[in-house]
Amino acid sequence: MDSTTIVVFVAGLFLGTLLNIIVIRLPRERTLSGWPRCTRCGRPLAWWQVLPVVGWLAQSGHARCCKRSLNALFPLIELITGVALAIFYARYALSVPFWYLSFVAAVLIVTGAIDWLHRSIYTFVILGAALIVLLATTVAPIHSFRNALFGALVAGFVFVIFFALARVLFPGKSSPFGLGDVYLGIFIGAAVGLTNLLPSLFYGMVMAGIFSAVLILAKRSGRANVPEYISYGTFLCLGALGYLVRWGLGGSDSPLGTGGVRYRSILITGRDTWAAHSEYSLSAARVWFSGKTRQKP
Ligand SMILES: [Zn+2]
Repeated sequence: MDSTTIVVFVAGLFLGTLLNIIVIRLPRERTLSGWPRCTRCGRPLAWWQVLPVVGWLAQSGHARCCKRSLNALFPLIELITGVALAIFYARYALSVPFWYLSFVAAVLIVTGAIDWLHRSIYTFVILGAALIVLLATTVAPIHSFRNALFGALVAGFVFVIFFALARVLFPGKSSPFGLGDVYLGIFIGAAVGLTNLLPSLFYGMVMAGIFSAVLILAKRSGRANVPEYISYGTFLCLGALGYLVRWGLGGSDSPLGTGGVRYRSILITGRDTWAAHSEYSLSAARVWFSGKTRQKP
């Protein structure tokens, strides 16, 4: 690991601190500006308490001012942001995809964390980010605008069906799958594009499924305080982020990305697939008619 990667990692940690301020203030306060304050008692923090990860560790998870426990989610967010940026840098240096993926990661982290803490997704944040991502693909060499638009449309369509199903299956109750999740799907679809959509959603859905199964088992065994619903959006964010960190926007490099590439071939460049198939059929026919399949001695 070279020294620039370490610098990017540390910058990522500090970006994580900024994201934490958004996560803490967006649902509770009218302004995002101002010096960080204790999340438990509201007293202004000393400079060293604000330091990413180190501040939390130095207080061993308990606020110095009021001795109350601090959520471990916040240093975790700082670590995840730092690691994500370092890996994006290692793959893309400081090129356009690095800045693009860093923005997408920041949106996923903020959205996932707020959904985890408050079970809500901010429409203006997620749809605003989707619009920014769509516009970015028209001017920057990331993936095509068409790929982004189809990703958003397909994800939106699938998630609207989930949303309607949840409404039918759980009438009267607050739906376990909200409209915010639909918007989140649209953002992820636009951000990763149709070519990466399937694997980007897949990992989050699997994690949400495993977590739900654990909760159901806990409930059956008579545990109290088992939550009624999970923060589905958090898992979608984590899955998409994990996919981008591990495989970037490469698509075909990932184990599931080959499927993505296949349906891109069908949906977006259908002609190429058709051409390849007909060429293959023609050459197969030619081989068959000329009898070249049997190796002659
Ligand atoms: Zn305090």
